[in-house]
Amino acid sequence: MSPPDLHERLIDELRARVEMELWFGVEWMRRAAPARPTGPALDRPEPAKAPTPLSQPMPPPVPPRETGPRQANAPPPPAAATRASPDEVRAAAEELARVAGEAAACTKCGLARTRKQVVFGVGHPRARLMLVGEAPGYHEDQQGEPFVGRAGQLLTRMLAKIGLERKDVYIGNVLKCRPPDNRPPTIEEKICCRPWLEKQRETIRPEAFLALGAHAAKMLLGMTEDVSIARLRGKVHERSGVPVVVTYHPAYLLRQPADRWKSLDDLLRVQAILQGRDPAAIRPSSPGQPDV
Ligand code: SF4
Repeated sequence: MSPPDLHERLIDELRARVEMELWFGVEWMRRAAPARPTGPALDRPEPAKAPTPLSQPMPPPVPPRETGPRQANAPPPPAAATRASPDEVRAAAEELARVAGEAAACTKCGLARTRKQVVFGVGHPRARLMLVGEAPGYHEDQQGEPFVGRAGQLLTRMLAKIGLERKDVYIGNVLKCRPPDNRPPTIEEKICCRPWLEKQRETIRPEAFLALGAHAAKMLLGMTEDVSIARLRGKVHERSGVPVVVTYHPAYLLRQPADRWKSLDDLLRVQAILQGRDPAAIRPSSPGQPDV
């Protein structure tokens, strides 16, 4: 890396660090202790130094650096994963573990006979963002965790584009058991399984949902009619006062990589919500195959 590139990267990292500290409410930092002098001055007492307020002497922010082709929506720094206290997080984790234990023995629909195991959900127990997919596939059924196959790897990379890791969000599915041959869920199965999703929602209390695919969108929005993802995405819906953003299922994006830029725009809408910005300000990016 050339010195100018390294310099700009350091500035970017410093800016992201400062914005993250401000996001967490840190408004000043103690200046690093000066190097210990040597020689005769050693015994002289150092005058005490007052803490340096971060917000006052900071230089004005450096404008974002444009790299490569212009993008319509340059992502700001990541939002915090939770606003809950450690005690609240612990209580939610215990409640989710208790409910997952109950769900592990569920036989309310016929999928109990064909599954290897119940795939309850994974992630931060008080995440601000909850992702809801359709149902476990082969790899998820084998490993007991949602979105671990190729579609899950794509989802992980897409989350990284808005500065989130899987541990920062909660990931679940409409159905907790794998339908044979990955067929779509039936209405009866969705009705049977809905209480588990509701229990997750009540415990996690997310500030935003990301619906991955039509089944998740219709479940979260309480819709029964057939409606395409194309009609649902691009705007922010609401479920009991909580914003719901709809996007393509990552498995679809594996087959249609040309649509990934649309899903990245949807993730930017989610990020705007988490950061208290107006998601309507996110404009469609230029069509193209994003680096994800
Ligand atoms: S899909 Fe849901 S309702 Fe059906 S057996 Fe599994 S956990 Fe129970």
